[in-house]
Amino acid sequence: MLFGASAGVSLALIYFIDPASFWIALPLTIILLLVAERNHNLTMIHIRESKLLELSQRFKLAMDSSNIGLWELNGDDACYLDGRAAGLHGYPTTENEFSLSRWLEAVVPEDRIKITDFLTHCTQGEETHSEVYRVQLRSGELRYLRAAGSNYSTADGARHTSGIIWDVTSDMQVAETLKNSVYSSHVKNAELELALQELSSREHDLMELSRRLDFALQSYNCGIWEANLSTDHSYWDRRMHQLYGLDYTTGYTDRATWLNCLHPDDREKASADADRCAANNEPFSSIQRVLLQDEEVRYVRSVGSIHIDRDGLRKVIGIAFDITADVRLADELKAAKEEAEARNAELIEAKSHIEHNALHDPLTGLPNRRKLDLELDYLTSSPVAAGRARFAILHLDLDRFKQINDTLGHAAGDATLARAAELLRLNVGDAGVIARIGGDEFVILISQVTDKYIVTSIASNIIAAFQHPFDFQGFTCRCGVSIGIAFGDAQDNDARKILINADLALYRAKAMGRNRYEFFTQNLQAEIVNHKRTADEILAGLEKGEFETWYQPQLCARTGEIAGMEALVRWRHPTRGLLTPDKFLGIAEELDVVQALDRLTLQSALQDRRLWSLKGLEIPRVSVNVSIRRLHDAQLLESLHQLYIMPGEVVFELVESIFLDDSDEQVVQNLDQVKELGIDIEIDDFGTGHTSLISLLRLKPKRLKIDRQLVMPILGSPQERALVRSIIDIARSLGVETVAEGVETMEHAAMLKDMGCDILQGYAFAAPLPAQEFSAYAMQQELRRVS
Ligand code: C2E
Ligand code: CA
Ligand code: CA
Repeated sequence: MLFGASAGVSLALIYFIDPASFWIALPLTIILLLVAERNHNLTMIHIRESKLLELSQRFKLAMDSSNIGLWELNGDDACYLDGRAAGLHGYPTTENEFSLSRWLEAVVPEDRIKITDFLTHCTQGEETHSEVYRVQLRSGELRYLRAAGSNYSTADGARHTSGIIWDVTSDMQVAETLKNSVYSSHVKNAELELALQELSSREHDLMELSRRLDFALQSYNCGIWEANLSTDHSYWDRRMHQLYGLDYTTGYTDRATWLNCLHPDDREKASADADRCAANNEPFSSIQRVLLQDEEVRYVRSVGSIHIDRDGLRKVIGIAFDITADVRLADELKAAKEEAEARNAELIEAKSHIEHNALHDPLTGLPNRRKLDLELDYLTSSPVAAGRARFAILHLDLDRFKQINDTLGHAAGDATLARAAELLRLNVGDAGVIARIGGDEFVILISQVTDKYIVTSIASNIIAAFQHPFDFQGFTCRCGVSIGIAFGDAQDNDARKILINADLALYRAKAMGRNRYEFFTQNLQAEIVNHKRTADEILAGLEKGEFETWYQPQLCARTGEIAGMEALVRWRHPTRGLLTPDKFLGIAEELDVVQALDRLTLQSALQDRRLWSLKGLEIPRVSVNVSIRRLHDAQLLESLHQLYIMPGEVVFELVESIFLDDSDEQVVQNLDQVKELGIDIEIDDFGTGHTSLISLLRLKPKRLKIDRQLVMPILGSPQERALVRSIIDIARSLGVETVAEGVETMEHAAMLKDMGCDILQGYAFAAPLPAQEFSAYAMQQELRRVS
C-alpha cells in the first residue's frame, strides 16, 4: 500500500519533470506493483490499479486545464507533438504524425534558428532547457509559446529528447507592451539627443531584464493541485507545498491552510475566485501573494478547471507556478516606464525652459527680437494670415533713457526698463504682443486691427502712463516715450517692411519733439527718401569742398569797433545754388554729419582769421556754432588740440536746449576742458528755451546771446523791451556779458546800447558775408573808425 502511494507520487514527479517518460514509466510501475504485491488479492490490485489510473487521469486533467502540450524528437526529421502541442501551433489537434519541418513551419521565420538551437541543446544533456518562440496563427495572431525539454534515458538505456510546450502569450505581451511603451516614450522625444542616450542605456537594461526573465522561466516550477468541492479537501503535490512555503506531509490540505499561506490582503479575493469557479463552473484563475519567511513574498499564479470524477465528485484540478520573477520584471518595467516618462517630462520642461530663454528678454520677461521675428513670420506666412484684415506695429523708444542710465547707473536703467515693460503690459493687455528688441526699444504687434482708434487709444494711453514720474532709490525719474505706428495688411505686406515703416514713423515722432506718436504715411516715406538723398549729397559735398564759411561781424556797442565775427556755414549746391543752413542743417543733424560741418567751419574760420592777421587785419575772435553731437564727441578735445587755438581766439555758441536735454557726463567734461583751452562759452538763442537763467549761469558762460526773436520787437513792444533790459541787468550783475543778435536797424542798436548791451550783431551793420567780402568790409570799417 505504502509502496503503491510512493510509486504514485514518483510517477507524478516523473510526469511533471519528464512527461514523455511518464507513459513509459506508468506500465512499468504497474508491473512492478503487480510483482511486489503478488500476495495480495486481486481486489487490492484492482483498487491500486484504479488509483493509479485516477492519478494518471488527474495529471492528464492538470495538463489539459493548463493546456500544456508534449513533444518528442524521434530521430532525423521525425517528431511527435501531442494534440495540445499541435493545437498550440495552430494545427488540428488530431494531427500527431509530425516532422520537425512541419513543426518549424508554424514558427515565425526569425525564431526558427532559435528553436532549432534550443532543440539541439535539449538533445545534448540532461539539463533542462527552455526557450520562447512565436507562432503565426492563420488568423494573423501571434502566439508566444515556451518550450522546455531535456535528454534522458529510459530503463532500457535508450535516450530520448522530449519536453513540454505552453502558451505564454499574455505574459510576453505584458512584457512586450511595457518594453514598447518604455521605448516609445523615449522615441517621442527623439529630437533630444540626451533622451536617446538614455534610451540606449535603458535598452541595455531591458535586455538584461529579459535575460533574467529567461533565467526565471528556465526554473519554471509547476505544482499540481486538486480540490474536492464537496469536502473542502485538497491534494497538493510536493511542488505545491514548496510554492506555498509548507512542509510536505500527507499531501492533503484544505482551504484554510491555503488561505493562511497568503498575504492577508489577497485572502478575500482568492477565496472569492475559488467560490466563483465552484458556483459558476468557471475555470479558476488567480494570482496570489504567498508570504514566506522573512517577509519575503512569492507571486503564484494558479489555474485550474472543474472536473467530475468517476464517483461523480466535483473537483477542480489545476497547476500553480511561481511568477515572482515575471511580476518583478513587470514592476521593474513599469518603474522604468514611469521613470522614462518622468524623465521625458523633465526633458520637455527643460526644452521649453531653454526655448523660453532663447526667445525672451531676461530683464523684462518680454519676448525678444527673435521671438518678434517669429511672430512677424507667423503673421504673414501662416494660413491664418488670410483671415486677418489688418495689423499694426508700434515701435517705441524711451525718451531720456540714456540720461537715466548714465547719471543714475545701470540699476536705475534696469528699473526704468522693468517699469516700462509693466506700463506696456498694463496698457496693451491681450490686444497685442509686446517685445523688447533693443536697449530701450520696444515693439507692440497688434495682429487684428478692426479700428484705427483702438491703436491710437493704446498709443495715447501709453504716452500718458509714461508722463508720471517714478521713484528710484529716492530719486525722482522721468522717462517719456515716442511711438511710431504703421499698419499692414497680412495678405499683401511683408511684416518686416511694416516694422521698418513703424521705425520711420518713430523717427518722425522723435524729430517732432518726442513724447508723442506719429503714423507712417507715404509722404513721410518720400520725405525720408529725400532726406537720405540730401544726407548723401552733404557727405559728397564735404568731399568736393561745396561748403563755405561766411562771416557776420559783431560790433562793440560802445565803441563801434569790430569785436568779433560769427562763422556761418553755406552750401554751394551744384544744382540748387547757394543754400542757407535751414535747408540742410536739420538733415545733417539727423544723419550725424553735423559734426563734420562744425569742424570744417571752425577750421576755415581759424585759417581765414590767421590769414587776415598776416595781412594786418585783426579780428579779435571768431564765434562758431557747436551742435550738441559735437559736444558728445569723445574725440572733440583731441581735434581742438590739433588746431593750436590761442586763448580768447574762439567762442563756442551753444543753444540753451543743450543744457536742458543733455547734461551728460561727457558733455560736462568736454565743456570744462574746452574752457581750459581758453575757448569762451556763449549761450546762443537765449530767452527762447525754458531753462532758468540761474541754472544756465551756473555753467559760467562768458556771454549770453539774446535771441533775435526777443531783440527785433523791442522798438514796438514795451514787454519785450523790459525783458531784454532785465536779461542784460541780471547778466551784468553776475559779470556775464551780453550780445544782441538780429539788430536790424540803428534804432535797435542805439536802444540796446542804452540798455547796457555789450555787443551787437545784425543786418544794421552787415549780413553774413563770404570771406573775401567780409575782409573788405572789416578793412573799411577799420579805416572809417581810424579816420
Ligand atoms: P544763429 O546761430 O542764430 O545765427 C544767426 C542767424 O541769424 C544767421 O542765419 C544769420 O544770417 C541770421 N541773422 C543775422 N543778422 C540778422 C538780422 O538782423 N535779422 C535776421 N532776421 N536774421 C539775422 P543763418 O546763417 O541762416 O544760420 C542759421 C542758423 O544755422 C544759425 O543760427 C545757427 O544756429 C546755425 N548754423 C549756422 N552755421 C552753423 C554751423 O557751422 N554749425 C552749426 N552747428 N550751426 C550753424
Ligand atoms: Ca549762433
Ligand atoms: Ca542765435
